[in-house]
Amino acid sequence: MNPILQTNSLTKVYGDTSALDKVSLCLQPGRIYGLIGQNGSGKTTLMRIIAGLAFPTGGSLELFGCLEEKQIHRERKRLGCLIEYPSFIPSMTAKDNLRLHRIMRGIPNEEIEDELLNIVGLTDACKKKAKDFSLGMKQRLGIALALLGDPEFLILDEPINGLDPLGVVEIRNLLKKLCQEKHKTILISSHNLPELYQIATDYIVIHQGEIKEIITLQQLEEHCQHYLRLECDNLEKLAAIIETKLGTENYKVMPDGSLRLYDYLDDRETIMREFFENGIIITNCSREGDSLEDYFISVIGGVKNV
Ligand code: ATP
Repeated sequence: MNPILQTNSLTKVYGDTSALDKVSLCLQPGRIYGLIGQNGSGKTTLMRIIAGLAFPTGGSLELFGCLEEKQIHRERKRLGCLIEYPSFIPSMTAKDNLRLHRIMRGIPNEEIEDELLNIVGLTDACKKKAKDFSLGMKQRLGIALALLGDPEFLILDEPINGLDPLGVVEIRNLLKKLCQEKHKTILISSHNLPELYQIATDYIVIHQGEIKEIITLQQLEEHCQHYLRLECDNLEKLAAIIETKLGTENYKVMPDGSLRLYDYLDDRETIMREFFENGIIITNCSREGDSLEDYFISVIGGVKNV
């Protein structure tokens, strides 16, 4: 499958600030990419460049297989963006705002207005003017505007910011549905990894303009899965006892000679008794594994102010 977006050493310098530093990425269709970084790490700058709202000072990007600037400009019609603040007229309702954008973009299908209001959960607010919206409602309207024109690639800058817990779940489900059922590709940013956890299929960690890590949800879960780290004098026998006496194969023998047991985390007494009765001397049994936040901090190099 051809990538939706490829960037090659994309760089953006503002005066003496390096907002993006040689960013090379490849986004595949039908996936949700979570762009995670602290405030000022370069998330919005990257999104603005992809959307054509800012220009790189170095490097290049390829959108839907097009490299040439004129072609990229044309291909941007296939994008739907919510970057920084959604642009709507405060004195108009959500539906009127949608209509205005629909007409400006030459989209004939009138029914799409109600459909989108329904999708983002704004149907009940049909009489309210946008200026009286809560932050969460404004975000929902921004997402609806980004969805106009049925874009293949959605770029959403902190869309979850300001949503209440129920709103977060609704938007999470909406984005997953768009990805799974309509095969859309989504790039979504946040400064908070737990917030994006389980929305994204892939996570891109950016710090001070540099990409520090690109990791799948499965790899992230492996990193953050908690386990009991066991050390003993006979690893083979330990593994056999775990399988036969404790009835689980949910363990991994590590190259450093320890064993990770992913079950029985809260029942150490049972396992220690079993090991003892079978003549195994455990020299270490500790609960280990990163939290999402610990993991993020370790990737960006230990700054503890996220
Ligand atoms: P936040 O989470 O706070 O929105 P961000 O990760 O989106 O942050 P950017 O807005 O991309 O970060 O900013 C990256 C860096 O570039 C910051 O140091 C910022 O001050 C700087 N920057 C961004 N836009 C400009 C601009 N127009 N002029 C000068 N510096 C800028």
